[in-house]
Amino acid sequence: MAIRKVARLGHPVLREPCRELTRAEIRAPATRRLVEDMRETMAEYAGVGLAAPQVHEPVRIAIIEFDPGDAERDLDEGRTSFTVFNPRTTVLDSTPAGYWEGCLSVPGMRGYVERPRRVQVDYLDEAAKPARVVADGFLATVFQHELDHLDGVLYVDRLADPKLFAFNEEFSRYVAEGG
Ligand code: ZN
Repeated sequence: MAIRKVARLGHPVLREPCRELTRAEIRAPATRRLVEDMRETMAEYAGVGLAAPQVHEPVRIAIIEFDPGDAERDLDEGRTSFTVFNPRTTVLDSTPAGYWEGCLSVPGMRGYVERPRRVQVDYLDEAAKPARVVADGFLATVFQHELDHLDGVLYVDRLADPKLFAFNEEFSRYVAEGG
């Protein structure tokens, strides 16, 4: 296992549409290693999600991992960890839900984005078997944020208002405090 270098905003790998994996590729040792590295990298940088292009691999893999205490009200059947291959999103409720999002590829910043509040994600799991998750609220936003990466889309493309974009320190000082 290894911590990988995270591609930052401006690196072209973040803007490429990623390719799907075959079932054989999903089960291959090299993919297992990549996923392990992604988990280790995400933990190192304290993220809740990471997509393969963020570690310079333009393939359709994303991982999401919460601390169980973090957002339990939104978790599907209490699950806190997801590894998804070749995911497809279906919007179940397009009512916008807004959150301040951050991204390991845009370090030190956050921005306010509105996304559909309920989505279904169909994907292949680590055994290359079809699986499905229904996500609400914050978890729905995390899924949509990560799956956007697989199409070369970043949250900064979706800011509800370009003014709702801030460094974390200023966010804490002036926005979160309501100042
Ligand atoms: Zn991101």
